[in-house]
Amino acid sequence: MSEKGKLSKFWITELTRPAFEDWLEHEEHPVVVIGIGSIEQHGPHLPLGMDSMAVKRYIHEVAKRSNSVAVHPCWPGFSPHHLGFKGTVTFSWDTLMGVLMDTIGSLAYHGVKRFVIMNGHGGNRNIMNLVVQLAKREYGVMVAAPSGPDSTELAKVFADRQKRLWDVHSGINETGTALYMFPELVELDRVPEDWTPSLDVDPKLRAFLDPDRGDYEVVSQVRAACSQPDTDDFSTDGIYGLGSPHDADPEEYAKRFEKRVEFVVELIREWKKIPTPPAFQG
Ligand SMILES: [Zn+2]
Repeated sequence: MSEKGKLSKFWITELTRPAFEDWLEHEEHPVVVIGIGSIEQHGPHLPLGMDSMAVKRYIHEVAKRSNSVAVHPCWPGFSPHHLGFKGTVTFSWDTLMGVLMDTIGSLAYHGVKRFVIMNGHGGNRNIMNLVVQLAKREYGVMVAAPSGPDSTELAKVFADRQKRLWDVHSGINETGTALYMFPELVELDRVPEDWTPSLDVDPKLRAFLDPDRGDYEVVSQVRAACSQPDTDDFSTDGIYGLGSPHDADPEEYAKRFEKRVEFVVELIREWKKIPTPPAFQG
């Protein structure tokens, strides 16, 4: 499972202790890739574990291509905004933070100095970013939470769709991910062919979803300020967005997956060329 530091299994849960030790000893700059997601409602057609299952695919692939160890420490994330729909399991913010800090702290104790956190659920983002800051200070380790790539043509298509159609949750983008990664778990026939958005928001705010407006930078932030905290405040079917899940394209997502994995692998490759800065030694 690890031969002179070269892993043949990448989940921490599948490695023996000697295999983990061999990797730690021979890999010059061992990197642990941590993935967090959620268990939450994903409209009528996507599985509750969508975000965690997707992030598992990412971290395993990144670990495989970078000789890293993948850790998926928990299934739930921070999803109180979805509790209005059945099936959602949320941690409180401090539980998720504790899970992340304890995971990093344990592995830091064994000498791991470099961590990558990949996140599959928007609700976790602020907690993750705080952990990046606190773990550096508390455990003397480096932590990256890579975003991107944002500059590819495909990334621009996704970003534009998010702005224009507010395609954030269980819409075109996410349905494409699920159809690519685990089509057997998607029940697209639960979304009517002639689906129309259940979104109940003030038409004035809806008009702000137009990135071509000259004042978009301002009005998009007004819209964000007005966004109501819980999904069931503004959606009856749990899908945010104006685009129909039936328009999802798994092929498009396959390309996006590949680009993001390669991006993070390249980040790790470049990172390993940099010696450990003094504050993180010892
Ligand atoms: Zn999701």
